[in-house]
Amino acid sequence: MASARFDLSGRVAVVTGGNGGIGLAIARGLAEAGAKLAIVGRDEAKNGAAERQLLNAGAEAIAIRADVTTSEGCASLVDATLGRLGAIDILVNNAGTNMRKRPEAYGLEEWRMLVDVNLTSVYLACMAAYPVLKQRGGKIVNIGSMTSIFGASFSAPYGAAKGGVVQLTKSLASAWAADRIQVNAILPGWIVTDLTIRGRAATPDLHDKVIARTPAGRWGEPDDIAGAAVFLASAAADFVTGAALPVDGGYSAQA
Ligand code: NDP
Repeated sequence: MASARFDLSGRVAVVTGGNGGIGLAIARGLAEAGAKLAIVGRDEAKNGAAERQLLNAGAEAIAIRADVTTSEGCASLVDATLGRLGAIDILVNNAGTNMRKRPEAYGLEEWRMLVDVNLTSVYLACMAAYPVLKQRGGKIVNIGSMTSIFGASFSAPYGAAKGGVVQLTKSLASAWAADRIQVNAILPGWIVTDLTIRGRAATPDLHDKVIARTPAGRWGEPDDIAGAAVFLASAAADFVTGAALPVDGGYSAQA
């Protein structure tokens, strides 16, 4: 029998970037634990396919088209979720992107885009959801990265933004604990998704370097992240807030 501590029956979860990769795996995990799902992305085809996958698995799920880099997009995803699912109890800020090059090769527009997608979106979605979450308490799970802790010569704006995600997580956890809102981050190691398939195409030795550096001796799969998300979204984590949990096969544990 599943533990009641991890039971999300009756809860409504929003997962930004939930139409593929890590976000869709988290959405599946939350749905398996009983939550209703709103997945958010810009691409209608990916949204539709992910929504069908969740519905076919027996979940109650909707897809919402929104750009999380704008206040309007974040307001619309909150309104659509409330309108169609009636509540928001869990917000997973997972949307993100990267562009790999040396720091001096980025233009200002590229810097702004990367900070907007990876950091400002988290702030905007949290602000849009806060009035709803504080009504009965809730959970926010932000997706950081190994670059939240380590520097990466090929991802300076992404790393700056992902470092910011952890500090924003701690500040919101401090500010909103009295509202019974727990705010935590997951720091994934190297996971096989469209994002890293692009990275591996651009950097041919990346695949082997990651395996050599990871004690578990493999790349992660999106499903490897789902369990930590279910934990942080559940009553089992009611006294866990402001934490940044690596889920990385030991990557960050090894010198
Ligand atoms: P994917 O590229 O597979 O997924 C990114 C998701 O973000 C897509 O669903 C995309 O949907 C959505 N998205 C991007 N921009 C926006 C936007 N402006 N508004 C709304 N949605 C947006 O990547 P991953 O699954 O790999 O990445 C998910 C998260 O995990 C990211 O935050 C990433 O930085 C992080 N991460 C990934 C790691 C990995 O090894 N893969 C390692 C560490 C962290 P759409 O295009 O439809 O908008």
